[in-house]
Amino acid sequence: MMKAAEISNPYGQPELSPAYDPWDPITSLRKYGRHLLTSVELTVSNLCNMRCEHCAVGDTLVLAEPAKLPLASILQRLDEVEHLQTISITGGEPSFSGRTVQDYIIPLLKYARGRGVRSQINSNVTLDYSRYEAIAPYLDVMHISFNYTTADDFHQVGFAKSGHPVPRETAVRMYERMIENARKLSEGGLLVSAESMINFRTHEKIADIHRLIVEMGCRRHEVHPMYPSAFAADLPVIGKEEMRAAVDTLLKERDPSIWMLFGTLPFFQCNEDEEDRRLLSRLAAAPNVTVRNDPDGRNRLNVNMFTGDVFVTDFSDVPAFGNIGGDRLDDLFQRWLGHPLARSVDCHCPAAGCCGPNLLVKDMYYRDADFSSRKAIIL
Ligand code: SF4
Repeated sequence: MMKAAEISNPYGQPELSPAYDPWDPITSLRKYGRHLLTSVELTVSNLCNMRCEHCAVGDTLVLAEPAKLPLASILQRLDEVEHLQTISITGGEPSFSGRTVQDYIIPLLKYARGRGVRSQINSNVTLDYSRYEAIAPYLDVMHISFNYTTADDFHQVGFAKSGHPVPRETAVRMYERMIENARKLSEGGLLVSAESMINFRTHEKIADIHRLIVEMGCRRHEVHPMYPSAFAADLPVIGKEEMRAAVDTLLKERDPSIWMLFGTLPFFQCNEDEEDRRLLSRLAAAPNVTVRNDPDGRNRLNVNMFTGDVFVTDFSDVPAFGNIGGDRLDDLFQRWLGHPLARSVDCHCPAAGCCGPNLLVKDMYYRDADFSSRKAIIL
């Protein structure tokens, strides 16, 4: 079995790093001077062996799922995306079914490699290692969720919505397998990026979570606030001050050798609140730390592989605005850019490296704000 590090990079692209993150829409905005579709997210499964309390697509999870569209039809639509730079494969747990791994995931990843397109899979890596070992040689980023300091945290959070009790021993076994899998994949040369969310459970122990992620060998720690979508709709929400404090703790206590990527933060350089701007400036100045602009609807669309429906993101309440059965993805992206919701967050302040808020962030914190009339306050 080939290791990820043994696969050549035929296009001689730069390494994924704080200096080169093609998922960030600012990269293509700077290059082309306007938003273009450079990223496609594919939902390949609605099955999952967990039921996390914060799952952003929890309401779509099922116990049995219908057939997917033929692979050829999605490959044809990807082929038409002129500026495609990244794909993301998501679920559910995308690797839940071995057939999905063989018949869809590996061919999609091979397609991406053959075209010089970077790839990511969002997985809980709690299944047998062989499943991930088969994927790793063709993959750029294995993205996992990690919000725990103990197996008991994992037990409590990971099965909160399962509808029946899951024995502690089962959860402990899965927790240990997840850590072992992440470690082995990292040792094999794969970029394992662990995402933690800042929420009511994690905000005071985020530094301990970070330490465990470093111990697993992950090369990147991705941090986002939790937003109340799907299963998370009823969870307590923490305020901006607590969120700022959690980010501040991470800045002080992080291991500076690993890349820290913050995303969907509710802080902007156009905010009147000086504390927000001060924190952003500290993030910008910290080595090995990036704040990614949100890709959803900026340079990325989501395609549901069962129906062909196209969404702004896999967890949005915004209904599908097209289908790959009848439309090219580039055309659908242009259609989305004209949508009033897309226009409500369409701003760009080059000096701040910012191209506007995520839709959920706007909805939660800036419902009445008109971003088209705001400007970064750069002192
Ligand atoms: S791009 Fe938009 S959100 Fe970002 S600083 Fe400028 S006005 Fe604010």
